[in-house]
Amino acid sequence: MAKRKFKPQPGQHQPAPQQVQVDLSQAETMKCEYCGNYVFIKGTVLKRLSPLVSPTGQEAIVPIEIFSCGNCGKVPKTMLKDVGLETIRMGGESQTT
Ligand SMILES: [Zn+2]
Repeated sequence: MAKRKFKPQPGQHQPAPQQVQVDLSQAETMKCEYCGNYVFIKGTVLKRLSPLVSPTGQEAIVPIEIFSCGNCGKVPKTMLKDVGLETIRMGGESQTT
């Protein structure tokens, strides 16, 4: 099998939007803002939707996936904003500083 080389033609430089190559090694790695750890554990926050605002008119439970630090258990503030919480503790660790 011979490999075909695809030569880019000069003057016809068209970006192919369906073949976007993302180099994840160049992407920013999210680190825990509290302890610097970069391994996160997936968790789910459950939001209870009141019948008044629910589209079905009935109370509904809406799960929202968030991530907590695998080391200290804290959730990045940006994710807490998304779910409408300020502070959350996962893992049940109680630390006094
Ligand atoms: Zn942490």
